[in-house]
Amino acid sequence: MASVQIRGVQKYFGGTQVIRGVDIDIKDGEFAVLVGPSGCGKSTLLRMLAGLEEITEGEISIGDTVVNDMPPKERDIAMVFQNYALYPHMSVYDNMAFSLMLAKVEKSAVKERVDRASSILGLTNLLDRYPRQLSGGQRQRVAMGRAIVRDPQVFLFDEPLSNLDAKLRVQMRAEIRELHQRLRTTSVYVTHDQIEAMTMADQIVVMRDGVVEQRGRPLDLYDHPVNLFVAGFIGSPA
Ligand code: ADP
Ligand code: MG
Repeated sequence: MASVQIRGVQKYFGGTQVIRGVDIDIKDGEFAVLVGPSGCGKSTLLRMLAGLEEITEGEISIGDTVVNDMPPKERDIAMVFQNYALYPHMSVYDNMAFSLMLAKVEKSAVKERVDRASSILGLTNLLDRYPRQLSGGQRQRVAMGRAIVRDPQVFLFDEPLSNLDAKLRVQMRAEIRELHQRLRTTSVYVTHDQIEAMTMADQIVVMRDGVVEQRGRPLDLYDHPVNLFVAGFIGSPA
């Protein structure tokens, strides 16, 4: 496990500021949900955590390490994307094994880690299939498998369920929470879905327009929203 600290972080794309000074603390083992309307900067913040975007100003630490200048591969994180980004020409096994092969992990260790992830996710019987032969939920599990095999301290999720139907979404929320618990990771989960945020989060971070409006436990935000935006977004009358 590892804590995550985001301190005074700003991000400009060219002359446009999209993150305007954000401070967030996420504890070891916490499940934090970043929630807010489309375009408010959730993905950008997550991508900075992953090292996929440069930080214009401020500091991000994972555990005790400032990661601002650390390449993505060296960060102790793994990210699950919205569009799964599975390799269509690779089997389920190879999809999960690929990043480990790139990292020159020994073949027997690769197999061990893929087997463990597949058994956790119920993919053991699907290892020879190709992405096009899988249902949406199965594809999502493979995408999670690719993150799990890396055995990260921190999981990053960017709207991982938005392509699934409502029923499956409810089921996968529970699965992701269980996974988080079982693997004892710290998780940062991005969604624009208030219900997802309320049901999954230890800590909710409500964002608007590149700033954090409020963060705290779901019920605290529900009972004591700092403004109408948070109240409206979280769904209490206030
Ligand atoms: P969210 O994930 O909350 O929907 P994003 O982080 O994707 O929001 O985007 C925040 C803002 O930054 C948006 O206005 C978006 O258009 C802009 N943006 C995101 N990525 C880029 C980029 N690579 N270049 C320029 N602008 C970007
Ligand atoms: Mg986004």
